[in-house]
Order: sequence, then structure tokens, then C-alpha cells
Amino acid sequence: MRFDHDTLAQRVRFGSGLAAANLAAEAEALGAARLMVISSPSSRAVATRIAADVPVAHWHDEVVMHVPVEVASRARAAAAAHEVDALVSVGGGSATGLAKAVALTTGLPIVAVPTTYAGSEATSVWGLTENARKTTGTDPRVLPRTIVYDAALTVGLPVELSVASGLNALAHCVDTMWAPRTDPINQALAAEGIRALHIGLPAVTADPAGLDGREHALYGAHLAAVAFASAGSGLHHKICHVLGGMFDLPHAQTHAVVLPHVLAFNAPSAPSAERRIAAAFDAPSAVDGLAQLRAQLDAPRALRDYGMPAAGIDAAAAAVLAAVPAGNPTPVTLENLTTLLRAAWEGTP
Ligand code: NAD
Repeated sequence: MRFDHDTLAQRVRFGSGLAAANLAAEAEALGAARLMVISSPSSRAVATRIAADVPVAHWHDEVVMHVPVEVASRARAAAAAHEVDALVSVGGGSATGLAKAVALTTGLPIVAVPTTYAGSEATSVWGLTENARKTTGTDPRVLPRTIVYDAALTVGLPVELSVASGLNALAHCVDTMWAPRTDPINQALAAEGIRALHIGLPAVTADPAGLDGREHALYGAHLAAVAFASAGSGLHHKICHVLGGMFDLPHAQTHAVVLPHVLAFNAPSAPSAERRIAAAFDAPSAVDGLAQLRAQLDAPRALRDYGMPAAGIDAAAAAVLAAVPAGNPTPVTLENLTTLLRAAWEGTP
């Protein structure tokens, strides 16, 4: 065994019903006196409750998926105008992403309060979109100082979105197994993430308001994000990044649809990853384990259902081919990639 592994420095406060108290403790620990709370209008009521005991200088509610540069500029200007000294994001990956865009240029610390399973809160990856092109980068300044996880905040996440978002988290775990910086530490986190999501997601669909399933899903999503942040983007993430950018597809659903196809593509060439994923699913094979879970969850099935045109398959295959990570277990060709994308577009197993 030989590897180099970086662990990101971050505090995690996990507790259902404790978000307000945990945020207040973190604001005090940071010595923050002028917070900017970033949340979409639909998360504003939740954000107001959570931030009841902290000094808020500005509420910012212009949150847009994939962080357009104009939206980032306005948020940065607001942070300067209100002389804020720390950022609080309340919401999914889009709210976290906007806080990261502000931290990128200001160095302000972030306390992230996630309400989906996207996992951006545990990575130092930022993303900005300009003229329909998304640029991403890595910078230690954008890593939230603290994550406040409160499963009670996620009970309002509709079941369909919970499933898509949870499968997005599962994709972080699966892709970790063959990503460019995969190592025994991030693989261990990914395997435990799969196990937790496999318990949590069916429980969420059976009882969306129940905390037990929500806690397992949130815990699994955190492990997934930590593993992914360490291992980097494998074939699955490269495919989803290209598809999302080319066809403006919804983030979580795209991941949910593409995952079984990448798993089926790579599993035969990655036997030890395959065994590990199968064991985490407690299934005879990795592909079976994921298929059973997806059937239980009534998971998103086809890219065509989310607006991808059939005519786009060839262009997408060419763009993905240029971005395939070196060392992907199954050698990738234009032909097998086109077959994979066509199956994901049609929703065939
Ligand atoms: P999102 O943040 O856009 O949220 C999806 C929808 O769910 C929104 O309409 C939001 O208002 C709503 N919502 C969120 N929480 C809710 C709740 N608890 N109850 C009811 N509704 C709720 O989507 P997302 O999937 O969380 O994040 C996607 C974005 O995050 C993408 O831009 C993606 O690129 C980015 N992302 C970045 C990283 C990273 O490491 N930088 C990692 C994962 C995702």
C-alpha cells in the first residue's frame, strides 16, 4: 500500500433540532458580529428560524443554480456594503455555492447549513457560470469552516428530490472507487457512505417526515462528499459535468440517471471496487445492489425525461471522451461511450 492523502480541516456539528444552537455557538467561536445569511426565498423561513440567535447584518436571497457570475458579483457587493464578517448558507448546493463564490474573493469564513444531500459543504471546490459555461476550481478559502447538519431541516425536501439528491450522494461514493486520487482512506469513507445511504434513502421514501432515515441519508451524504473531495472526479462526474453544461439538465437527477450506467460500465474491470460496493449494498453484485435500491426508490430513469435531445448524444460523447480521467478501469472509446450515453438517454438497463 502506498498513497498520499489530504484530510480537509473542518468542524462538523450534527444534531437534529440543534441547528439554531449550533449556529449560535459557531458564530461566537468565530467572533462574528455581522453575518450575511444566504438562502433562496423558499428557504428563507427556515433560515430565519435558524438564525434567530445570531447577529445578522444582511439577508441575501438571490440564489441561482450553478452560480452565474453576475449573481456572485451582486452577493460580493452586498457583503462589502454591509461589512459582513462571516457567511452562513442555508439550503442546497446552490446556496452553498454562492457563499463559496463570496468567500473566494473575500476570504470570509462560511458556516454551511445544508438542506439537501449535494455535499458541496464538505469540498473546497467552487463553481461559477458565465455565458452558459461553468468553470470550477479548488481553493482552500471556499471550504466552509463548519458544517451544521440538522436532519429536521430536510424533512421538507420532497421525496422525489430527496431520492435524486441522495443518488447524487451515492454517485460521489461509487465514483470515488476509481477516481483519479482514489485511496484506501477515501474508499473506506465511500463504502460507509453507501451503507448509510442504502439504509437512509428507503427509510426517507417510506417515512419522509421521520428523522431516522433523514439522519442516515445526511450522514451518508457527508461521507460521500468527503470521499469525493479527496478522490476527485471520476468518469461519472466527468459525464454529468458535460451533460449538465451542454443541455442545462437538473444536477441531482442527471447524476441519478447516469450512475447505474457508469457502474455497469466499470464494474467488470474493477473487481475489488465491485466487491466493496456489493458488500456495502449487502447484495450479490454492485450492479444488483444499485438496481434494487433504485427500484425501491422509483429513481429517475432517462435523460430524455429531463430535456436532453437525442441529437445531442454524439456531441456529448465527443466532449466526454476528451475529459475521461486517466486510469478509468474500463478503457473508454467513442463507441462504448456513445452506447453508454444512449442507454442513459433512453433509460434502458
Ligand atoms: P439546489 O441547491 O439548487 O436545490 C434544489 C431545489 O431544492 C431548490 O429549488 C431548493 O430551493 C430546494 N430545496 C433545497 N433544500 C430544500 C428543503 N430542505 N426543502 C424543500 N426544498 C428544498 O440543488 P442541489 O442539488 O442541492 O445542488 C446543486 C448545485 O450544487 C449544483 O450547482 C452543483 O454543481 C453544486 N454542487 C457543488 C459541489 C461542490 O463540491 N462544489 C458538490 C455538489 C453539488
